[in-house]
Amino acid sequence: MRKPFIAANWKMYKTTGETNDFIKDFLPAVSSATDVDIVLAPPFTSLPLAAGLLKGSNVNLSAQDIYFEKEGAYTGEISSGMLVDIGCQYVIIGHSERRQYFNEDDETVNKKIKAAKEAGLGVIFCIGETIEEREGGKTEDIIKREVDGGLKDISPDNLVVAYEPIWAIGTGKTATPEIAQETHAFVRARLKALYNDKADDLRILYGGSVKPENISELMTKPDVDGALVGGASLKADSFSKIVNFK
Ligand code: PEP
Repeated sequence: MRKPFIAANWKMYKTTGETNDFIKDFLPAVSSATDVDIVLAPPFTSLPLAAGLLKGSNVNLSAQDIYFEKEGAYTGEISSGMLVDIGCQYVIIGHSERRQYFNEDDETVNKKIKAAKEAGLGVIFCIGETIEEREGGKTEDIIKREVDGGLKDISPDNLVVAYEPIWAIGTGKTATPEIAQETHAFVRARLKALYNDKADDLRILYGGSVKPENISELMTKPDVDGALVGGASLKADSFSKIVNFK
């Protein structure tokens, strides 16, 4: 039985004051949600504050990206070790916005996953196709390429996969539960090709306009093990409803 995993990706939103206000409202609203792994991914500037506020709670902390080197002359970058140092447990890697705006390819994603796991971080690994790719019948090719390239020589421990169709991110267009299930089943088949039976233990999250109104139906699907939530995770009220979907 896979434990549901629900993560908030705040992207480039929230000051430290806003982070403080959110967490103060959010923690009491989810304190009894013990049968779900809950993760918040604020921007870098809010991570130390969030680490302090979440300590001892049932909510884990994630960053939204790392650089793959341990240290060095890489102006503007943050390493995995620095995140572990401030109390981060996870990092999101390969988000479509990183791939699209910052030219991250599968090889870079693979190096980042390796670096994160070496430092002891859990990884939320994102994959997904554009609308042109879906309409052109290329979804499975893209997923195969991203899974095989991103996870080359990576072990399955402490790994969570997020399937996020790019056409559903921030657009209000959610994949139907049927489309999500069909694609998640394909993702799991690819994971099985890499990890055999261990793929049955991996959580595959759905991401793309998840809201309090659609989470319960998505979660009825056998291969949908949780959600990565952008817009609807920015308000404590709406994200706590998603976490308490049962
Ligand atoms: C995301 O950024 O990972 C995401 C799924 O965003 P949204 O929920 O806003 O579509």
